[in-house]
Formats: sequence, structure tokens, C-alpha cells
Amino acid sequence: MSQSEKESQKERLRGLPAVDRVLRSEGAEALTRRYGRPLVLEAVREALSERRSRGTGASIEAILAEAGTRLEASMRPSLRPVFNLTGTVLHTNLGRAPLAEVAVEAAAAAMRAPSTLEYDLDGGRRGERDAHLAGWLKRLSGAEAALAVNNNAGALVLALNTLALGRETIVSRGELIEIGGSFRLPEIMARSGTRLREVGTTNRTHLADYAEAIGPETGLILKAHTSNYAIEGFTAAVAAKRLCALCRERGIPLIEDLGSGALVDLEAFGLPHEPTVAAAVAAGADLVTFSGDKLLGGPQAGLLVGRADLLARLAQNPLRRALRLDKIRIAALEATLKLYADPQSLAQKLPALRLLCRPSEEIRQEAKALLPLVAEAFAGKATPALIACKSQIGSGALPVSFLPSAGLALKPARGIAVEVLARDLRALPIPVIGRIERGRLVLDLRCLEDPAALREILAGLCGKAR
Ligand SMILES: *Cc1c(COP(=O)(O)O)cnc(C)c1O
Repeated sequence: MSQSEKESQKERLRGLPAVDRVLRSEGAEALTRRYGRPLVLEAVREALSERRSRGTGASIEAILAEAGTRLEASMRPSLRPVFNLTGTVLHTNLGRAPLAEVAVEAAAAAMRAPSTLEYDLDGGRRGERDAHLAGWLKRLSGAEAALAVNNNAGALVLALNTLALGRETIVSRGELIEIGGSFRLPEIMARSGTRLREVGTTNRTHLADYAEAIGPETGLILKAHTSNYAIEGFTAAVAAKRLCALCRERGIPLIEDLGSGALVDLEAFGLPHEPTVAAAVAAGADLVTFSGDKLLGGPQAGLLVGRADLLARLAQNPLRRALRLDKIRIAALEATLKLYADPQSLAQKLPALRLLCRPSEEIRQEAKALLPLVAEAFAGKATPALIACKSQIGSGALPVSFLPSAGLALKPARGIAVEVLARDLRALPIPVIGRIERGRLVLDLRCLEDPAALREILAGLCGKAR
């Protein structure tokens, strides 16, 4: 008897079909067409081995069903779409800004076919990757020159490493920011090869503090937008304009890390004030850095605008190659920047701004319409109520400003934990992410642009055996 015959005899004794028999069955063929043979073989083996270790028999059909479930789970995308009902519009953990349709189309086109990424059509020779963006960035910021890299953290590393390697960078103690554990300014500076020279105190820093710290070792002065916190009370910070005058007088470049980087005045859209890139340039910063996927509403990117001579030095740094943008994001970013050419239609076409601008009354109407379905979906488990709530811009922008919004608050029934409700919503085919607040699960509907899709998902919960 051959080895495999012996094996299959053993399996039969255990009440299990042999692997070969399972794979030769009709059901297996269907799975193989869908997932390919190696994965099906693996899943069938796993299903059999599990039954074996449990000491139970199984039919071919049962093994196939189990293998099918395993295959489906393993082939489900890891990066999945979700409903962001957290109330934070630019949620870093949920991918920050949703892109405009034109940006999505441009990115898809760049992925499908060769493009002029680094090709100059007029001259028929090598061109510049940044040329696709520089024109628009200059126009929108009023700066002389522009450069784009992987993200704002990368933009800072590039600037610090180019302009202050082995020298000091002066920063106010009130601006030594942390933006989530992976971005802490002192650590970024150390890795960029510059020595941090702290000046002032946590709550107050004066122009004289900067002036006294400037010496032969000074490479740069960095002003960081304290984007995710506010220091209130007895405070003093030096406005960029006054700092610029000092820097100019002493011949030290000033970098302003704006973080969110609004390209337009948000107040014109009825939103809280946020410093614009153009204002920072006009105030005299030599370089301004900001993110592409925060208030700008584009793909992840780090943008630098400012003096042409400084940016030319940055472009020569070998790190720039390590931090460069790919064609997909360049295409999406170019399309996004073009939307800014017409501020009139911006709030319609740019999803990030559209969501931020949504009137709370419109959101309230949507919440009201959704209430009966949510009540049915959670019958016996929770009672929903229509509430007024407050959305946040997110990504550190305007941390102390809130946008009036509306939503549904689910109050769990006696004996049910609010975390269980949150988990049920996360387990839906398109997970729904809310936020837990004072024992209730709050679903802020500001970012719900497709209520029909949410209805369909929630309908799946209705009438389910509990
Ligand atoms: C968000 C932020 C950063 C980091 O930007 P990324 O694009 O996420 O790398 C740096 N500085 C400030 C002030 C920020 O708000």
C-alpha cells in the first residue's frame, strides 16, 4: 500500500475524507476557480486537521464549507472601507481626507498607463517630478518655489537635515509638539541631525529669548503650529511676522510648520479661523511646511513652499529621493490643487471642506430620518435618541473649535455594555465606527454622505435573532 493510500485509510478510520477526495469533489473545483489551488489545498488541510484534533468526523461537504469560510476570511481585504461616524472629519486612524472624485480619477489613470512623471514632452528628455505640482502650489501660496514629499513629517526632516545638520535649531518650549506617538518634534530633530535649542518657557516665549539664543551654532529657527492643543491663560508667543524680522536681520532662515495647512481662509466658509499657507508666506517665513491630507483635502503628502534658493538645496539632499512622492499621489494632488482655482465651487467639490461645511440642520434631518431604522436594528439592545453634538475637524486642526452637528445616541438596555453595541456596529459588512460618550454610543452623522448605504447595512441587523 502506498503512503497516500495508507493515509487515506487512516482518515477513513477517523471518519474523515482524505485530502485528495475532498479536492476532487465538485465543490472543491468551484473553490479552486475562485481562489486558486494552493490556497484551497491549505484551507482543506487546515479544516481536516482541526477536525482530527477535535476527534470528530466530517463529510466532504462539511470540510468544504469550513474551507470556504476560511478562504473568504483570509481573502477579505485588510484595508476596509468604514462609515466614519466618529464626528472627527479628518480622522488620522480612518485615513484623514476623503479624496475628490477628480483626484480619484486622476490617480486611477496614473496607475493604469505610463505617464510624463519625469518626462519633458517639449524637449523629449528627462523632466521634473515636482513640476506637476510646483506651479499650483506657488500660485496658491504666493511663494517663489515649492517641493512635495511623502508627508509633513518627511518635509520637516528634509528641511532640518538640509539646513541645520550638525547645528542648532531654535524652538520655543511652548511648541515642542507631539502629534501622536510617532511624531515628537525633539525626536524628529535628533534624527534629522540637528541639535534642539529650546527657548522660553512652556507658556511664555518672547522675541528676546530667540534673539539671545542666536549664535554661531544656529542653523535654523523653527516655529511649529501647536495644532493639537492650546495653551491658555498667562501666555505669550512671538508672532511669525516679528520673528521673521529678527531672522532676516541675523541671516537665519525661519521655517514654519503649519501642520494642517489651509490653502483658503476657512472663515469665508463659516468655519473657525486657521492660519493659511499664503498668510505664513506673506508674513515672511522662509519655508512653510504642511500636510496634503489634512485641511488641504488631498492624498498623504508633505508640502514645502518658500524661498527658491533654500528649496533648491533641499532638492539636492539625497534624503529627498527617499521621501519622494509616487505618481499616484502626484496625480491626485495635482487634481486636488486645481479645485482651488475656483473657490466658488470648492465647498461642493472638495469632500473634506464639504463635510466641514455641512449645516447642522441638514445633518439633524438625516439623523431624524434614520432614527426609526436604528431603533428597529437595536430593538431590545439599545434605545436611540436624536441629539445635537459637536464634530471636530481632526488631524490636530483647531483642537479647541467644534462644529455644531447632530446624530443618534444609543443608550444600551439594562445589562448590556455600551462596548457591545460598538462592537456589533464594527462587525457589520461595512463597519460603522462611532464614539462612546458618557455611557452612550454616539453616531455623529456629519460624515455620512451616503445614507442609503448605511440603511442597507443596518437593515441586516433588523429581525436578526438575538
Ligand atoms: C500633522 C502635523 C505634522 C505631521 O504631518 P504628517 O503629514 O502626518 O506627517 C507635523 N506638524 C504639525 C504641526 C502637524 O499638525
